[in-house]
Amino acid sequence: MTAAAGRAAGHPVALPVPPAELGEGPCWEARSQSLFWIDVPAGLVYRIDAAGDLARWDVGQPVGAVMTRAAGGLVLAARDGFLALDLDSGAATLLASVEADLPGNRMNDGACDRAGRYYAGTMAADERPGAGALYRLDPDLTMTRLLTGIGISNGIGWSPDERLMYYVDSLDYQVDVLDYDAASGAIRGRRPFARVGQDGVLPDGLTVDAEGGVWVALWGGGALRRYAPDGTLTREVPFPHANVTSCAFGGPGLELLYVTTAAGPGAEAGGGLFVLEPGVAGQPSYPFRG
Ligand code: CA
Repeated sequence: MTAAAGRAAGHPVALPVPPAELGEGPCWEARSQSLFWIDVPAGLVYRIDAAGDLARWDVGQPVGAVMTRAAGGLVLAARDGFLALDLDSGAATLLASVEADLPGNRMNDGACDRAGRYYAGTMAADERPGAGALYRLDPDLTMTRLLTGIGISNGIGWSPDERLMYYVDSLDYQVDVLDYDAASGAIRGRRPFARVGQDGVLPDGLTVDAEGGVWVALWGGGALRRYAPDGTLTREVPFPHANVTSCAFGGPGLELLYVTTAAGPGAEAGGGLFVLEPGVAGQPSYPFRG
């Protein structure tokens, strides 16, 4: 994962990885010092380690998010629901079925809170507004539907003080914020945080840095943006690919920001994986504790 000189200046550097139709879901695993990410429609999970070595798993169905698991392996938000992936055997096991009665829906982006609860939402394959929902899978595998009427459920992240959860329904062209109870995992009081995008430029994945800044990927916008906790736009990092999909902090001190992109303008052969040094450290990607 050596990066070129431009990284120090905060510019994205492309890593040598296979092109993805829809690269998504970067997730850093501290114990292995490696990064996982996915190609959504291809149902592929990738890993790159500190030496730059690549590994790949074929899940056999579209995947919307990948998180590490405290017990080992990964937990995916996929077409059929939450799946456990055994990295040694490659076997995927259904932990919780999601919207089995809605075959046109699949799971999309997700994230785990510090307690190891897995939040992930759904969307209709035809991107019909209001067809999706947001769910929480607790470590005891109890699943709770938290929000309904969602268009494209996307980025999820928490403020460093664990009092707020940020959430993107891409079709709303905004990042929302909710009051979050770290003890129970409950959310309430959903309200707008920042207007992001218009006319085909959509907010996609997000992550929150250690200073509470909210980094949002702009699908169609060729950029990553940072919003201060008060909602003020403080940074915009341009990318050579139009469809910037998601971001996550990684590296030994969480000082690197990994960013995925999808095929589209500037990425005709497929999306990539980029790394930059944004000058602010991140919060960890927490594992699922079920
Ligand atoms: Ca996404």
